[in-house]
Amino acid sequence: MTIDENILLKHLTTFKIGGLARYFCVAKSVADLKEATTFAKKAGVPIFVLGGGSNVLISDEGFHGLVIKMAIQGVKFEDDGNYVRAIVSAGESWDNFVSEAVKKGLWGVENLSGIPGTVGGAPVQNIGAYGVDVSETIESVEIFDTDNLGTRNLSADQCRFRYRDSLFKRPDGKDYIITKVSFRLAKEGKPNIFYKDLNKYFTLPGAPKSSIEEIRKAVLKIRSAKFPPLDKFGTAGSFFKNPIVDNGILEDLKKKFPEIPSFPTDDGLVKLPLAWILDKVCGSRGLKMEHVGLYERQPLVLVNFGEASSHEVLVLADKVAMDVRDKIGIKIEKEVRAIGEDRPPAKYRTGFWTLAYIYLPKITAVIQFFGWHHFRQNYLIGFLKSNKSPEDLMRHLNSKGYSRAHLAWKDKGEVFSVRKIVRHDFQYHIRFFNDYEIRGHYEYTAESHPIGHLCEAVFTDPKDYFDHLLYGYVEK
Ligand SMILES: Cc1cc2nc3c(=O)[nH]c(=O)nc-3n(C[C@H](O)[C@H](O)[C@H](O)COP(=O)(O)OP(=O)(O)OC[C@H]3O[C@@H](n4cnc5c(N)ncnc54)[C@H](O)[C@@H]3O)c2cc1C
Repeated sequence: MTIDENILLKHLTTFKIGGLARYFCVAKSVADLKEATTFAKKAGVPIFVLGGGSNVLISDEGFHGLVIKMAIQGVKFEDDGNYVRAIVSAGESWDNFVSEAVKKGLWGVENLSGIPGTVGGAPVQNIGAYGVDVSETIESVEIFDTDNLGTRNLSADQCRFRYRDSLFKRPDGKDYIITKVSFRLAKEGKPNIFYKDLNKYFTLPGAPKSSIEEIRKAVLKIRSAKFPPLDKFGTAGSFFKNPIVDNGILEDLKKKFPEIPSFPTDDGLVKLPLAWILDKVCGSRGLKMEHVGLYERQPLVLVNFGEASSHEVLVLADKVAMDVRDKIGIKIEKEVRAIGEDRPPAKYRTGFWTLAYIYLPKITAVIQFFGWHHFRQNYLIGFLKSNKSPEDLMRHLNSKGYSRAHLAWKDKGEVFSVRKIVRHDFQYHIRFFNDYEIRGHYEYTAESHPIGHLCEAVFTDPKDYFDHLLYGYVEK
């Protein structure tokens, strides 16, 4: 197995967003997992396991550790009386497995047809759709423990499955990599078509009989009308979980919104459909901000319409969460896992830097008053296009993860100066001037290498990057 460096992750996710992995490998066996884990321990970097990348939002800053792409293959069906045990390796495609089970007439996972991702990713968030959760058919899960480099089986109970949740999302499951999942599938089964859309499908005049094959067909058809096509748009499916509240909260909500739907859970609480809340209460259906938005046909789904940054997605997600909190007082949780840091890195959010951001600009202003640094730094990117305003440029840069550069000289004629931190210690720094000139460079951050920053130990012109970033905003 080879361990590569600086691999772009965006193409390995369905959101089509994400920066570089510091280290990257593809694991095809447990032996590969051992090798990868040993490497990460020696290098002192964290591990992130990537399945199909359909439930993650990877930061544009990338992941400063080892990404292990799970590719262990293998499917085995064992007869067990009225049941068949399917033992499936974690790197298998989830939907290929469902298709195979349906072809064999084995009941249990047909309602989960069409969900992207791997078999190993399915237990992590206990995938569910059309009234069925995968935990209902999981018998056990084989895990590789990165702590002691051994494998062992966990029973379904030990996996502590809940609504879109499991042990693997919690701190005590953080050392486990799923290598195989055992499913108990029934030779004879009853159709589970109580879910509204499925029920409607099978009760229309001329509808087919709800055989296992027809249920799969129906689910695939309903899903294709609800989710954006992955070859056109980036998405990770539902971005948020449906909120679960107690009956008291539901009764209060009903006073204001009498028609609010609700579904009782096994533990005496109620699940509220967030799509309904976003649509009917917040009026957010079709909400769009720059390159991201809520999918017109399903407001729970956040969509990357083009070249969206991870920061843009998080800004929209924050807005949606704030709207829900303001309108009905409920805090909603992300279903999608955000990987890597949003800016600025945590180490720059300390009390020291907060004070430095306030006082250092004042000190540099005094120094500059006495004549120090009275020019423009290299490199010229171009000029702002006449059909764009400085505010348009600022909004565009903000949406790409740029924020005010506090620790910087004020260049001659400067209107504003913004930066984006990458790879922890470096930054892209862009300045806009009163004659519409735009200049920018790549360098050490002042926080990470104060002397290196001041002496311009690294000071380069990432021309292709700026051309791409400012396409439509700059003329040469
Ligand atoms: C269009 C679309 C529709 C979707 N519809 C649904 C739906 O109906 N219901 C639903 O529940 N979800 C849905 N999802 C979400 C997603 O498909 C599932 O959560 C899927 O199971 C994620 O699997 P993955 O292999 O892509 O995991 P990834 O996205 O690669 O990873 C997700 C998380 O699981 C961890 N992980 C992955 N593999 C392993 C492993 N082998 N061992 C340990 N940890 C691992 C990762 O570290 C990460 O934390 C949808 C997504 C999209 C894009």
